[in-house]
Amino acid sequence: MPVYQSEALILRTYKLGEADSIVVFLTRDRGKKRGVAKGARGRRSRYTGALEPMTRGDVAYYEREQRDLVRLNFIEPTRSPLSAASGEALGYVGYFAELIDEWAPEAHADERLYRLGSSVVDAIAAGAPVELLARYFEYWLLRLQGVYPSIRQCPGCGGGLNEGASMPQQDAVLVCRNCAPGTAGTRLSAEAMLFLKSATSVAPDNLSTLVLTPRSARELETAHRRLITVHLDKDLKSARVLREMRQAR
Ligand SMILES: [Zn+2]
Repeated sequence: MPVYQSEALILRTYKLGEADSIVVFLTRDRGKKRGVAKGARGRRSRYTGALEPMTRGDVAYYEREQRDLVRLNFIEPTRSPLSAASGEALGYVGYFAELIDEWAPEAHADERLYRLGSSVVDAIAAGAPVELLARYFEYWLLRLQGVYPSIRQCPGCGGGLNEGASMPQQDAVLVCRNCAPGTAGTRLSAEAMLFLKSATSVAPDNLSTLVLTPRSARELETAHRRLITVHLDKDLKSARVLREMRQAR
């Protein structure tokens, strides 16, 4: 049985039998894997504290021929989102993990996606404003998957989008105000467009240079949710939980 060792991000776990867990994790070098963690739910589990979503660590696993499930040998956490100070940030951790899980191809390396996820863990641990981080993460995730519409040029007239843009109800593109008069569709203000343009060139450890007003944050959340729903063909469970949490406040 070949043994592999890699840096990885934990995405989620589910129960297997009485005491074991199946762990879904994204490796840096060999894509997404599902592995059996023996005794993970036992009282003296060596995985305690290592299986929270968005934990980064060193992972060793065996691959078995003709089987999709690998067998975990160990997970040594190196960075945990639990070190984040705010409870609000922890609420988002499941959302980030679910998004990566949905987009990561099975057993196919995607180093850029891994790096994005990994830098998000660092940003959470460093106490980055989590709503800004969420909009930034969605933008980059959708961009890496090639599904973010152009933020520079209106496909209707070729004009710029600096003054604001609109995503028509029927189409996941951004058009200028002249091509989409009226209030139909999802509108993005000039500030929201500026955020996207700045996010293109700002690294995740430098998020404090970005400006996101509460209004732009709402606009982008709505637009991103539409893009995610169109491309995954479903609404994410964790996104629903986040909205309910906010309404309950
Ligand atoms: Zn136009």
